[in-house]
Amino acid sequence: MPRATKIVATLGPATSSAEVLERLIMAGVDVVRMNFSHGTAEDHLNRAALVRELAAKHNRPVGILADLQGPKIRVGKFADGKITLKVGDNFILDAACVLGNQERVGIDYKELPRDVKPRDLLLLNDGLLVFEVISVKGSEIHCLVKQGGVLSNNKGINRKGGGLTAPPLTSKDMEDIKTAVKIKADFLAVSFPKSGSDMYMARELMRAAGGDALLIAKIERTEAVTNEALTDIMKACDGIMVARGDLAVEVGDAAVPALQKRMIRMARELNKLTITATQMMESMVSSPIPTRAEVSDVANAVLDGTDAVMLSAESASGMYPVETVEAMVRICREAEKSADVKLDREFLDRIFTRVDQSIAMAALFTAHHLKVKCIAALTQSGSTALWMSRLNSGVPIYALTPVQATHTKCALMRDVRPIALTYEGHDREKLLREAEEVLLQNKVVELGDLVVLTVGEPIGQSGGTNTMKIVRIGENRPA
Ligand code: PGA
Ligand code: MN
Repeated sequence: MPRATKIVATLGPATSSAEVLERLIMAGVDVVRMNFSHGTAEDHLNRAALVRELAAKHNRPVGILADLQGPKIRVGKFADGKITLKVGDNFILDAACVLGNQERVGIDYKELPRDVKPRDLLLLNDGLLVFEVISVKGSEIHCLVKQGGVLSNNKGINRKGGGLTAPPLTSKDMEDIKTAVKIKADFLAVSFPKSGSDMYMARELMRAAGGDALLIAKIERTEAVTNEALTDIMKACDGIMVARGDLAVEVGDAAVPALQKRMIRMARELNKLTITATQMMESMVSSPIPTRAEVSDVANAVLDGTDAVMLSAESASGMYPVETVEAMVRICREAEKSADVKLDREFLDRIFTRVDQSIAMAALFTAHHLKVKCIAALTQSGSTALWMSRLNSGVPIYALTPVQATHTKCALMRDVRPIALTYEGHDREKLLREAEEVLLQNKVVELGDLVVLTVGEPIGQSGGTNTMKIVRIGENRPA
């Protein structure tokens, strides 16, 4: 069985050389994440071009996820790149400071001094450092270090309990959306959305710039995890990221595991994608093997039903980016063997009204019961494959598409492997024959295997899937 769960790897200094990036792609990365909190538009453009080039070279579908910084409040840069703070030190977060030192550092959100008050707890670098606000003087927030450690360039700041009022899309994000469209990002992640309207706004801006990426809402705010807010956000996006870094700081770390399960379940029910993110293999930033707890964390995310597991610092700035991906591949594969197939029971609760969705479900049901080798969904937009992949059928799904953008979007879907079709005409028989041929060429099937195919007629229309066919491979081959 091919691996079902997908791997998203954040690019950064550790993975900027063509050589490492190539090894990363060969090791199994399905989607690369460009973190727009770091780097210039030019960096992203160059990196995206390199990713596409290497993916094409190895004939691997690799999606690109552009992750907007959002209103994440961050410290500025330090003259020496970083400082070390001890418990009891005084330190100033200063909206007017340009280059930081041992005494103070700048902040990118200039309104922060107005949003905080004495006794507030500020958590930096995902809660590694804790500052208590002592006083606010103009642009300066005077703090006492309650928990020390290393503070380096651009690390994030949260307030315990949430509630900072920064706007959902900053002017930087609006510029970055244009860059994301320019690099033809397959996925656009919005940081810190509070409601569906934040997502609609991002989609409007992206459409206005000419983009059609799938929109990912990063769930990382206290305000976003009520049932009502989650439903509202999910309906307005194509997928979510369980953004455990900020989420844990805002809601308390112990609340996150149950939230992760609830969010993944909800997302699948609403036909949305999920990425489980942050610190999955954190110790591999400096160690060639993961801890037992990390192995369990990745495996549990797979069992929760996530589409993808994500690497952040591990692949962006760690010492063992390739080894980390290899370890993740190994853990996912093993966990998938024991993932529950619950198709029959879940099926009974679902109501399908769309023709294409009904065909997708019928195909899934048939494939599961006939024990076919795979499902081949001939798709323009990828939605047939998405619907099929929301239920854990245990049958591999191949998304066969002539549309390059669909090809890379399907790379994130659990259980779905995209395969490119070259035939773009309207002859049904020719299309079906090419489908069989590419399945054979890709060694997905052998002559005599049984396969379920779905296709839309007339050929080549998005949203037109209306036919299911059970095919014995090679049976109709011209002699
Ligand atoms: P970030 O988002 O890495 O951009 O902060 C993920 C998270 O908060 O977990
Ligand atoms: Mn975050």
